[in-house]
Amino acid sequence: MFLEIHNLKKSYGDGESRTEVLRGIDFSVAKGEICVLLGPSGSGKSTLLNIIGGIDDADEGYISIEGEKTADMNEKTLTKYRRKHLGYVFQMYNLIPNLNVKENVEVGAYLSDKALDIDDLLKTLGLYEHRHKLPNQLSGGQQQRTAIGRAIVKNPDILLCDEPTGALDYNTSKEILKLIQEVNQKYGNTVIMVTHNDAIKNMADRVIKLRDGQIRKNYVNETKISAE
Ligand code: ADP
Ligand code: ADP
Repeated sequence: MFLEIHNLKKSYGDGESRTEVLRGIDFSVAKGEICVLLGPSGSGKSTLLNIIGGIDDADEGYISIEGEKTADMNEKTLTKYRRKHLGYVFQMYNLIPNLNVKENVEVGAYLSDKALDIDDLLKTLGLYEHRHKLPNQLSGGQQQRTAIGRAIVKNPDILLCDEPTGALDYNTSKEILKLIQEVNQKYGNTVIMVTHNDAIKNMADRVIKLRDGQIRKNYVNETKISAE
């Protein structure tokens, strides 16, 4: 499989205050799949995403991408891996306030050798006519579109999304999810999305449910709803 997660374990704290956040996580994701990680708050979703993203380290277990273990990579290779293979979308957009939409998206193309055409991407994102606006002149949905643009412009193999619709209303959330599906279809990026919104599983190819740091369900969604 394209992405393999093997027996990941992670604890925080020592002695009495030690919490096992991930207690042996195993799953695989095929190239181009949209995989949704569901589960109640505190079940370990963000920790898992951060370990996949190389932001956090596991205590045990490993991740491999196309057969290459990230734990075997040195710091330099790991930085390259993050830069080339991973795009990150957060609940908060974290845009640079004094750069306009186009410039914020361009930030994501920094040092990339396979960056997408920016104007073409801005059109896909519905941002072309807003490209000269600053973040504070945009709606929440437009800000998240810009953040998705910044993550996707380098055409990463994997797009990691942590509650990408967490700060948005229902209709805007639907728009953003549709956009993530469109981006997935157009550019073929594998998507791993953390959410506590159970309804989002309808748009996924693979549904993984966590509880108390363990996988409780892992299935291929046979009734995927595609963006129209
Ligand atoms: P979820 O994303 O499912 O809400 P998290 O991965 O954020 O879950 O957190 C799982 C557990 O790990 C929670 O109990 C949280 O308090 C704990 N945790 C997460 N990050 C840290 C940290 N840096 N230090 C200590 N505990 C943490
Ligand atoms: P929950 O009981 O947490 O709501 P689900 O309804 O998501 O759990 O899934 C229960 C089981 O039914 C899953 O483990 C899976 O095997 C199967 N299942 C549910 N929905 C689908 C689906 N859309 N496609 C394939 N299998 C499904």
